[in-house]
Amino acid sequence: MTVRVRVAPSPTGAPHVGTAYVAIFNRAFAHQQKGQFILRIEDTDQERSDPQYEKQIFESLRWLGLTWDEGPDIDGPHGPYRQTERAEIYRAHVRGLVESGMAYPCFCSKERLTEVREAQKAARGTIMYDRRCRTLPSEEVSRLMAAGTPHVVRLAVPLEGEIVMNDLIRGEVRIENRILDDQVLMKADGLPTYHLANVVDDHLMGITHVMRAEEWISSTPKHIHLYRAFGWEAPQFAHLPLLRNHDRSKISKRKNPVSLKWYEEQGYLPEAMVNFLALMGFSMPDGREEFSFDDIRDNFSFARITTGGPVFDLDKLAWLNGVYLRKLSDDELIRRLQDAGLKVEDNAYTRAVAPLVRERMKRLPDFLTVGDYFWNDHLAYDAATLVPKKREAGDTARALESFATLVEGASEDTWNKETLEAAMRAHADSLGWSTKDAFMAIRVAITGKTATPPLVESIVILGRDRSASRLRHAA
Ligand code: GLU
Repeated sequence: MTVRVRVAPSPTGAPHVGTAYVAIFNRAFAHQQKGQFILRIEDTDQERSDPQYEKQIFESLRWLGLTWDEGPDIDGPHGPYRQTERAEIYRAHVRGLVESGMAYPCFCSKERLTEVREAQKAARGTIMYDRRCRTLPSEEVSRLMAAGTPHVVRLAVPLEGEIVMNDLIRGEVRIENRILDDQVLMKADGLPTYHLANVVDDHLMGITHVMRAEEWISSTPKHIHLYRAFGWEAPQFAHLPLLRNHDRSKISKRKNPVSLKWYEEQGYLPEAMVNFLALMGFSMPDGREEFSFDDIRDNFSFARITTGGPVFDLDKLAWLNGVYLRKLSDDELIRRLQDAGLKVEDNAYTRAVAPLVRERMKRLPDFLTVGDYFWNDHLAYDAATLVPKKREAGDTARALESFATLVEGASEDTWNKETLEAAMRAHADSLGWSTKDAFMAIRVAITGKTATPPLVESIVILGRDRSASRLRHAA
């Protein structure tokens, strides 16, 4: 058996972190099993679907490196891979089900359905369709059909018994059939519901494992009934834990950024994002938190998926992103900064700055903020921060002046970190200043801030003239 898995996003909004999260595990499993990973676009909700979102889904998945083997833009033997292009396939399948008595047309009006629901609510009963049309005499069905009466098609779910499904992550789940509704398969406009299109496509596309978010677990018994109604073998199911907000509710854009585009624009690296999202549902055998897509592929198993509700923690992502930023070569870092649209030239100066600033970066734009003083000579800062606690302004000004003179007088062959630092320490000493106080005043003069990348290295990169002039200006 060749493993075939899929991710099946609906293009009803900006590409969602949950889509990437599900895609990671499906793709990892497919690659591990030398199978195929398919991207299917579930765009049957025509009111909410928009082609621009489909395009963004492609872009964001590609940005993360989560490429697919078959999909709307690649095609393949089981296409088309966009549900709106498969309407005829669904109609033919529904006709077959109605003919075999596994599904039935339902002519109930909205008003009637509302009445039924209200009555059930009042009686505190289960809210579900009362199955009136399931037992309509066939002459009545023919008459209503001939008259062109609007109708949906519903699945005739068995009234007794139960469904036992063996979730690859959660184990055995049992659901009694009597609590299952006669699911609508086809809407009055002739378009399929999610349930029908999803099952027909998974079958026709040869999907062997349906790995999707936990929120779909309640749909799975209905899907299993549908597979049975068609006489098909159901794929295996695995439901991944939902991503959650801090308050443990299902992740939502009111409480968390959920758009992959946002993360890209904020300067998170795709490899950090993949690692972070995978970490929400998966752990490595050795427990390490930093790992790549290839590591997931090599170590993936359903047993390694957690069943708890992982909380989306942006601090953790920022930490991981920093880890990945520090792993980039200078070349790579500069390329990523430029790709992100940041105004950074690839020259000797940028390359000198990169190792210093990188250490303190959490996101790509930090390159220009953490290291702003490398690019901006007109620093705005509160002059009071120049003066150490136990010193006076005049005294500090004189000290800064003398440091400016020291810096200017340094010769080319002494212009390196070790020599300059030794000279600065000796000079502070000769002034009767502690190194700590002197370096703090100098740090503020050179950078405008009290916490920065290493000071002496920064001065060496800025050069004698720029450094001396900042010290004088501060003085
Ligand atoms: N279209 C559904 C979604 O947006 C697919 C669910 C499934 O994988 O079956 O998540």
